Amino acid sequence: MKIQKPKGTEDILPSSIGKWYYVENMFKKVCEDFAYREIRTPMFEFTDLFNRGVGETTDIVQKEMFSLEQRINPGSKKKPESFSLKPEGTAPVVRAYIENSLYANPQPTKLFYITPCFRYEQPQEGRKRAFHQFGVEVFSSSNTYTDAEVISLAMEFFRRLGIDKYVELRINSVGTSESRKSYSDKLRSFLQDDFNQLCDTCKERFYKNPIRIIDCKNEKCHTIAEGAPLMIDNLSEESEKNFEELKHNLDLMGIKYTVDPYIVRGLDYYTDTAFEIVSNDIGSQSTVCGGGRYNGLVEQLEGPVTPGIGFGLGIERLIMVLENLNIEFPQDKGLDLFVISIGDKADSISTKIVHELRKKGVSSDKDHLRRSIKAQFKYADKLNTRYTAVIGDDEIESKSIILKNMNNSTQEKLNLENFTEDFFNIIK
Ligand code: ATP
Ligand code: MG
Repeated sequence: MKIQKPKGTEDILPSSIGKWYYVENMFKKVCEDFAYREIRTPMFEFTDLFNRGVGETTDIVQKEMFSLEQRINPGSKKKPESFSLKPEGTAPVVRAYIENSLYANPQPTKLFYITPCFRYEQPQEGRKRAFHQFGVEVFSSSNTYTDAEVISLAMEFFRRLGIDKYVELRINSVGTSESRKSYSDKLRSFLQDDFNQLCDTCKERFYKNPIRIIDCKNEKCHTIAEGAPLMIDNLSEESEKNFEELKHNLDLMGIKYTVDPYIVRGLDYYTDTAFEIVSNDIGSQSTVCGGGRYNGLVEQLEGPVTPGIGFGLGIERLIMVLENLNIEFPQDKGLDLFVISIGDKADSISTKIVHELRKKGVSSDKDHLRRSIKAQFKYADKLNTRYTAVIGDDEIESKSIILKNMNNSTQEKLNLENFTEDFFNIIK
């Protein structure tokens, strides 16, 4: 049987890699401008990191992890170790922050990442099992300016891509762990009578983490949760002040937002700021970016008490938004030169020329398949080359090369000996 890619995975082919380079370079540049530095963590971690760092009541940990049990020495009696492919970027970055004592550096620590993620979910448009995320994390600042900065970085990225007008920033505050405890009790009393009608996951959430019921995607749960008390109306004075400050900072930067009390990040280590950036241009999987503050997470993973905030941004969904809005991506760069050769001698010369030019950083190629001159021209055209150089017996005889500008079809005769130098000067 022919082997195919697993369900929920995609190949990114050369024909679309330009889009990826474009958004990746743009993201890196924005992060640089905001003084964030890149961090790369392994593709897999101990499963326990995600159990504790993402949360046992989340969909990710409950049903979406790609995990494997590995006995390192086949004969060993030691318990096999459990590893998981990273389903998200935050927990690994927090682990690395602690493990490498990054807290000992001048603070805050401002990091960004570009990473593949793996989640075992039901694949659909914009929801894959292997996908990619951009993300940032900032440690050691609980100043609300930092919250606004993180949000503004995402919004600036969208602005540079030309889609800021087509996305909506939604913000909320989920308060502190303490205020959520008393709020959870209020929520339970509200939901109690309808308990039996909740979906199975929400029945469990009712006891462990009722706040998550608020954003359950099940229609029934959604209806039951309508009219429930909201976290935003149950904030501590401090959290309320922080939320006002966040809005003030966003106003200072001229960033528009709506307050959406249904954005939920209901784990113990989430605090105050929660936000999403959504697009109406990609159907039901509309959240492109999601983030928030997690002041308890570093401690939860046994690091020093350290506030943190960050976001994750789905690259596949972002590219879908750009495509659906017909945003133009930069053209494929193509080639500087394709050398067309006829005959053995010319072929050898083309080998030398191409190699010399490549050493100078000039993108160039030659015929590999000993094709006819017509076929070589056709191929060069497909490669989107700016120039072609033709070498045949006549050219060798007269020690010259015909250089053709493919954009305007003009051509000139260059000296064979000095060709690489002269060509370099023409295009530089
Ligand atoms: P959703 O509610 O859509 O499942 P989520 O809350 O699980 O999203 P996060 O964990 O916050 O998503 O991840 C951040 C971003 O990563 C999302 O906003 C989305 O753009 C992207 N993302 C999440 N899961 C997937 C997936 N399975 N395939 C593609 N992109 C994804
Ligand atoms: Mg999800």
